[in-house]
Amino acid sequence: MTDWPNSIARKAVLDFKPYSARGGASNALHLDANESPWAPPPGQSAMGYNRYPEQQPAVLRQRLADLYGAQPEQIMIGRGADEAIEILLRTFCEAGRDSILVCPPTFGYYQTCAAIQGADIVKAPLKADFSYDADLVISKIQAAGASLKIVFLCSPNNPSGNVIDPTHITDLCAKFPQTLIVVDEAYAEFSDGESFTKDIENTPNLIVLRTLSKAYALAGVRLGVAIADPRIINLMLKVLPPYPIARPVEDTVLGALTPAAMPVHTARLKLWRTEKTRMADALKASPFVKTIYPSQANFLLLDIVDDETLLRALEKAQVKIRDFRQTLPGKMRLSIGSPAQNDIALSVFGVAVAPQRPKRIAEAHRKTKETDIAVRVNLDDATGTSINTGLGFYDHMLEALAKHGKFGLVLSCQGDLEIDAHHTIEDCALTLGTALARALGDKAGAGRFGFVMPMDETQANIAVDLSGRPAMVFRGNFPTDHAGDFPAEMCPHFFESLAQTLGASIHIDVRGDNTHHMIEACFKGLGRALAPAFKRDGVDIASTKGVL
Ligand SMILES: *Cc1c(COP(=O)(O)O)cnc(C)c1O
Repeated sequence: MTDWPNSIARKAVLDFKPYSARGGASNALHLDANESPWAPPPGQSAMGYNRYPEQQPAVLRQRLADLYGAQPEQIMIGRGADEAIEILLRTFCEAGRDSILVCPPTFGYYQTCAAIQGADIVKAPLKADFSYDADLVISKIQAAGASLKIVFLCSPNNPSGNVIDPTHITDLCAKFPQTLIVVDEAYAEFSDGESFTKDIENTPNLIVLRTLSKAYALAGVRLGVAIADPRIINLMLKVLPPYPIARPVEDTVLGALTPAAMPVHTARLKLWRTEKTRMADALKASPFVKTIYPSQANFLLLDIVDDETLLRALEKAQVKIRDFRQTLPGKMRLSIGSPAQNDIALSVFGVAVAPQRPKRIAEAHRKTKETDIAVRVNLDDATGTSINTGLGFYDHMLEALAKHGKFGLVLSCQGDLEIDAHHTIEDCALTLGTALARALGDKAGAGRFGFVMPMDETQANIAVDLSGRPAMVFRGNFPTDHAGDFPAEMCPHFFESLAQTLGASIHIDVRGDNTHHMIEACFKGLGRALAPAFKRDGVDIASTKGVL
């Protein structure tokens, strides 16, 4: 197998000399690519948009390698996983001679690309319950012989939502070392199973596809990857266009996948799963739904009865779901949306949903040269708190604030702690205030509150008014200048910053003999004061003006 994977590649791909592009711009004076020396209007020269990008931008490739637990040289970045599928076909399948194998019903683009490339399509359909037919796949590959170049397996499968038992995939890779086994993991983030990326190192014919379109909310940006043995990747890069990844795409992806943003993505995925379970349960009561197929993805495949009535109701409500009746009699696929969107879908499906008020969940992201912060708050669910600022004492304080404030808080910060704690503490406060203000929305049902917090020798008096008018008054003297890694002077500064973006007036009087106790009493006491202020009892606004 020294010749791998050239032994199975198209001869034309082996023979041609790749298009010679310059590669990324360096600090040299570049007069080598006929680019403009000027930034495009409105003149953001720092973005480098006047220069051609690298074929595989190195920083982005490293980030994606980290995200997927792979090495950069094992990754081909493309415009969506779609492009990776297309490039696989063009690299390995000779028109009129070679073939691919698919297991329908499955993702349609494998066949589209095969048809465009002039490759034959061998089908090994899933069983009636959509489970994978391992024996059939093996016998079809054996029958097709050496001209069968690529097997496309989709797990979790689109549109059925189920996964293929990983031992079948491992067996297939071992049994057919001269055939590429592609595992399309477009929905891996939603499933309990482990990614096959961990096997790439020891499996030269395995290719894993991943995408940022589903779990990471970047469908419009177009970015996906193939992960495989570097020898396969290098052949594919010969076929890939010289500049597929536009610079704004790289900027957007790096901005959405900062280390600080990852806990927020995790919290979203968790909610997505909860919603899928809720939908699968609720749809059992729908007069239109006969069967709900178990799904490890972010959609449900449904067997529909009285489809025409349902389609009319969907049309009337302007709700779109995917109609598969042409190929799968009676079946439609419903994507899982936000809780509010799912409620709309349920009502169209004729399921009575208890009128629930929109969950007060909000996020705020803030990135500067000093800090990179992501915050997600849930005023209606205090579970799932996870905090990481890099400052142990501060984490402890924010946790106390959320716990006593009875709200869920995901907060992560990558700050310039090598300078000091100032930016981290201040910027987290600002971002937290922004997220809380967003979650409060029109503040219907919210009020004005205070709390007296005794803690051993310490007592803190805290009063909060969610007035929309930021103000902060702090009275207290700390006996020492630090509590752990937290500078005491940053305590009033935290509340000042929070008040600003939350749009609240916060009054704190604190006295005591122990700095740790005093700071902790302020955070806990503020939480205690905020809990009733955040609580939604009725719909009245606690102000004679009708707005806060
Ligand atoms: C959505 C999807 C893709 C394509 O992903 P992009 O990165 O958006 O091109 C690939 N495979 C499956 C199974 C999909 O559902």
